[in-house]
Order: sequence, then C-alpha cells, then structure tokens
Amino acid sequence: MTVVLARENGISPEQEADAARIANAPLTIRGLTVSYGDKPAVFSVDMTVEAGKMTAIVGPNGAGKSTMLKAALGIVPALSGRVNVFGAALETQRGRIAYVPQRASVDWDFPTRVIDVVMMGLYRELGLLKRITGAHRAAARTCLERVGMADFATRQIGQLSGGQQQRVFLARALAQGADLYVLDEPFAGVDAATEKAIISVLKQLREEGKTVVVVHHDLATVADYFDNVFLINTRKIAEGPVQTAFTAETLQAAYGGRLATAQVDQLGAAAALHTSQVGAT
Ligand code: ADP
Ligand code: MG
Repeated sequence: MTVVLARENGISPEQEADAARIANAPLTIRGLTVSYGDKPAVFSVDMTVEAGKMTAIVGPNGAGKSTMLKAALGIVPALSGRVNVFGAALETQRGRIAYVPQRASVDWDFPTRVIDVVMMGLYRELGLLKRITGAHRAAARTCLERVGMADFATRQIGQLSGGQQQRVFLARALAQGADLYVLDEPFAGVDAATEKAIISVLKQLREEGKTVVVVHHDLATVADYFDNVFLINTRKIAEGPVQTAFTAETLQAAYGGRLATAQVDQLGAAAALHTSQVGAT
C-alpha cells in the first residue's frame, strides 16, 4: 500500500529509503560534481556519513578528497549536487560542524598566541559583542589540555612544530563543541606523539557519540583507526565498513598502478586480519 501511495506521489521506494538516510545522517552528499576548469575534480559523488563512527576518506593524491569536503562545506562552489547536514541545509547547521583544513593551506605569519587560536573556536558562542571572560579562557585551556598542549598557551602559533600546530587546530575544533568533526589529513607530517594524541582525542569524541570524518593518507593504519572508509578517485570507488569496503579490489580500483600489487595484497590481508581480530574479541 505504501509503495502504491509512494508511486502516486512520484517517489520510488528507493527514494523513500534514501530520504530516510539523508534525514538521519550527520552528513550526506548526493550527485556532487566540482570542477576548477574543464575536468571535474569530483564527479557525481554520493556519500553517507554514519553517525557516531569514524570514517576515513582515502584515495591517491589529487583524487578530490579535499575538494569534496570543501564543496560539501560550502567553501568551494559545486557544479551540481545536494548536501545535507543532520538532515537539514548546511547553512542552518554550521554551528554543529568543526572543520580542520589541510595544514599547508594555513599561513601563520601573523603573530597569534596559541590560546587565542583556540578561542577562535568559541566565537560562535561569543558572538561579536560579548566580552571574553575567565570562563572562556578556562574552556580554551581545557581544550588545550585534551590535546596535551596546555604548556604552550602563550606561545606564538607560528613558532610551533607542524605536529604541535595540528594539535592546536584540533583544540580549536574541540572548543566549537561540534557534533561533526571533519579533519583533512591531520596526520600528514606530524610526529608519532602527535598522531597518538590526535587519534586518542578522536576516539574520545566517538565515545561521546560524535561523528568524525578524516582524510587519511596512510593506508597501513586505516583498519586500526577507522570504522568506515570512503574510497575516492574523482568518482566514488567504495563506501562502508572497513571490513567490506577496504579490500584489495577496492584499493586497486582507487589507486590503479600507483600501488604495487604486493602492497595491495598486504593491505587487504591486514584488513582481513583486523576483521578476524575484532571478531575474536
Ligand atoms: P586530494 O585532496 O585528494 O589530494 P584535491 O581535492 O586537492 O585532491 O584536488 C583534486 C584535483 O583538483 C587535483 O587535480 C588538483 O590539482 C585540482 N585542484 C585542487 N584545488 C584546486 C584549485 N584551487 N584550483 C585548481 N585546481 C585545483
Ligand atoms: Mg587534499
């Protein structure tokens, strides 16, 4: 009966099911195409980010990972596509998203103290007219503590190492108190201690029921760090739980000749091993 009614409304059961997914997911992308010139950087991509999970976006250099996220967040214009955030239009949900861009794109020649960078995360709460109080400073300091950077509060951000800067940007994202955290290559060029600190904070966020999306370049740690994976090479290659979507086949499809077959087999085996370990515990 519902099917008949749906058809009378011109809506298929598939469309109805997708509408439910869109309504319930922290982030959905449908039919997203982005082009900087003649050739699309992202072509007709659909993505459904699952609530309360950690999702890795994986693909070769230039695959459109950053572009997809920037277009989804309204930072670069899309040629076509629809984006929903917590079932609603992006514009109404901005306060629920914290975005940490790829580090290379940020220029910190301007002198700014670490604590002030973190307090930028509070601006939405502060508004333009409210004064910064001791409570705000304490909140910013707590966020710095969470990433192990409290001792650096009064240092200039430009004087920190890449890994330390990345932790500060995560602290700023934490200050926003968002529900969806989107990080573009947070582990690129950081030290091992920073990587450990960041992943542990992201796992805490997941435990708090938040949703985390990370562009990730290290294939060897995907199965260890993430629940879900989204493989892209201009087009979507695969999406789903790491166990099913991160396989030798999907990796080969995403990377083609750029990954040695032996490497792909190894990674597929690593993913399978991880699955069996998870199953065993
Ligand atoms: P990824 O993050 O997967 O490495 P990007 O989204 O940065 O990929 O880039 C996708 C494609 O778009 C690449 O071919 C890149 O050269 C191109 N591109 C990215 N940003 C710009 C830009 N601002 N202007 C022109 N081309 C761009
Ligand atoms: Mg990128």
